[in-house]
Amino acid sequence: MKLTVLGSGTSHGIPVLGCACPVCRSSDPRDKRTRASLFVEGRNGEALVIDTGPEFRLQAIQAGIMRLDAVLLTHAHADHLHGLDDVRPLSRDSPLPVYGSRATLEELKERFSYIFRETQQGGGKPRIIPSEVSGPFDIGRLRVVPVPVKHGNLDILGWRIDEARDASFSAVTDKLCPPESAVYLTDTSAIPPSSLPLIGRPDVLVIDGLRARPHETHFSFEQALNTASEMGAKQVFLTHICHDYSHKEIADYCQSYLRTRKIEGFFMNPAYDGLKIKLSW
Ligand SMILES: [Zn+2]
Ligand SMILES: [Zn+2]
Ligand SMILES: [Zn+2]
Repeated sequence: MKLTVLGSGTSHGIPVLGCACPVCRSSDPRDKRTRASLFVEGRNGEALVIDTGPEFRLQAIQAGIMRLDAVLLTHAHADHLHGLDDVRPLSRDSPLPVYGSRATLEELKERFSYIFRETQQGGGKPRIIPSEVSGPFDIGRLRVVPVPVKHGNLDILGWRIDEARDASFSAVTDKLCPPESAVYLTDTSAIPPSSLPLIGRPDVLVIDGLRARPHETHFSFEQALNTASEMGAKQVFLTHICHDYSHKEIADYCQSYLRTRKIEGFFMNPAYDGLKIKLSW
């Protein structure tokens, strides 16, 4: 399995329009943060995208996305959904399933009502199949597990994706050869205890880390890293990052977090746009 962080920024994107702070003016490309999204590729060519934010088209071109098997939605906030129309060329040959909770799909149908209307004056439409999820399902040889989390008062979904380490094993739950797993938890402020077994101990965790200061609907850096440590996630990347700190400053924060707690053998860092994370490939 291979992951590409398409976007690592919070809802307004970095640089923030009208802001001249040091991070928004930074020349480090890792400080340019488009809206949060993740591209997942399986060894057998499976291709999934988690969320289609306003920059989806540009992100997909940058990452060289040529086809998709499905879109997985976390929730319907604009920064995670409003690029959905841009899947149009990728849904021409066959309609694209869009997986999400019932609430997210209801919002989608309202926001993109023209897609579901019989008639439209000119212009094309993406061909999508809204697909409500109620539990794990498979896409090719990838196992996809919806993980309910809290985003303030809102119930949204994180996603866990498993792939067998060895093609001769099933990705599902082979005890002899546990699958490699990646978990994506954007826009998260709390994880219900009932979701912890769904997450398990991921090889890679990409988790909401908005900023150092607390926020009502997002994990702070410390909350995100504490959560990741409790899970025992091996490689951790913060995402959905605002403009309070530069990439370099957040990387230093992560290193000092590991050092002061004497945590060894774990990797924690901020994500950045275009970051590629390879599990066994
Ligand atoms: Zn968001
Ligand atoms: Zn700024
Ligand atoms: Zn949100």
